[in-house]
Formats: sequence, structure tokens, C-alpha cells
Amino acid sequence: MGQNSRPVCKLCRRAGQKLFLKGQRCVSPKCSFERRDYPPGPRGRDRGRRRRSDYGRQLREKQKLRQVYGVRERQFRRYVGEAERMTGISGDNLLQLLERRLDNTVYRAGLATSRAQARQLVSHRHITLNGRTVNVPSALVEVGDEVVAREKSKDLPGIQEAVAATAAGGSLSWLEVDKDARRVKIIGLPRREEIDCEVDEQQVMEFYSR
Ligand code: SF4
Repeated sequence: MGQNSRPVCKLCRRAGQKLFLKGQRCVSPKCSFERRDYPPGPRGRDRGRRRRSDYGRQLREKQKLRQVYGVRERQFRRYVGEAERMTGISGDNLLQLLERRLDNTVYRAGLATSRAQARQLVSHRHITLNGRTVNVPSALVEVGDEVVAREKSKDLPGIQEAVAATAAGGSLSWLEVDKDARRVKIIGLPRREEIDCEVDEQQVMEFYSR
């Protein structure tokens, strides 16, 4: 969804919650949602939050999840289809597939302050997957894979800033991170309770099962 030119803070205000799309700004007092937590538009403050139909709620959850991970509709549908074909709970499968994206892995490992920044690092060929430069943000990582910033990219200001900003962040059970070496090893699969995404994934699946 890199081509989405709409101001991303409006997406948070429309969703009625922080989607954390802008890195450090999201945790600063400059966050637009902190200052104006009502829908955008000239009458957003007056109208407040409307009651939604079932369809409206499902659509909102779907849009939220798509926006959080920066995925286009067509690709998102493919993830939904794959999640349905996998064994287990389809909503959990969907989240797991999204978490396993290479750009998300770079973000989760703390080598970028936002998924948008991580996506740019990948598409600008700063990241290797198992020793090979990969410029496909949607590539899915597997258990045993190793994701490393390229030697010439390890000290990029963006990566340095992210490493410093996330130094105190908690670790995830599925990632073994060596921030000094800018290296991440995938040692498991993401668990739902570790995915800090405030979304009702079952509503998303219901949206597509209509
Ligand atoms: Fe959303 Fe971040 Fe903008 Fe705040 S700063 S409104 S969390 S994108």
C-alpha cells in the first residue's frame, strides 16, 4: 500500500484507534489521534462515532488490518484465501501470515520504526534473507531463516535510529535478535497473544465469507 497517498493519520482517526503507521511520531505528543480522536472531515467532531451495521463493522476491521500491515486489497484477499486453506483457526492463520512478511519481520525485530520504513529498507535492497538480497517486502519468512541488514547498510541513519528507539522494547518468542549485528533469526511462528494488533480477525474472515 506504498502508493496510498492519503495522509495516514486520517486512517487512525477514521478507525477510531492508533494504528501506529508513522514510527516514533506515533508515541510522541505530535500524534494526530492524541490531539483529535474524532473522525476527519469538517463535521467529524460533531458527528462523532456512528453505530455501524454488521457489514460496516466487518468492513472496518478488514480495512484496519489491511492498513496496519500496508497491504493492498488484492494481496490481502490472497492472504485470506491461504489462511482458509491452512489448518487451525483461519483468523489466527491470517494474522500469522501477515506477521511473517519480511517487512513486518524487520519492523518487529526493531530494525525499523514503522512497517513503512521496513518496507522501504527491503525494497531498496538493504536486507538479506538467508544470505541473498531480497527486495520483496511480502516475502514470507520460515522457521530457521535469517534476516540480516547488508554490511553497507548496517549503519544507515534509519536503522541506527530504530535500534536506539527500540532498545528497551520487549522480545518476541519467535525472533532471536542480535541488534548489534543487525541480524534476526526466525526460531518459531508468531503467536496471537504476541501480535499487538487491536483487531477482531474473525470479523475480517466473516467479511470475506459473505
Ligand atoms: Fe496514527 Fe501514528 Fe498518525 Fe498517531 S502519529 S495518528 S498513531 S499514524
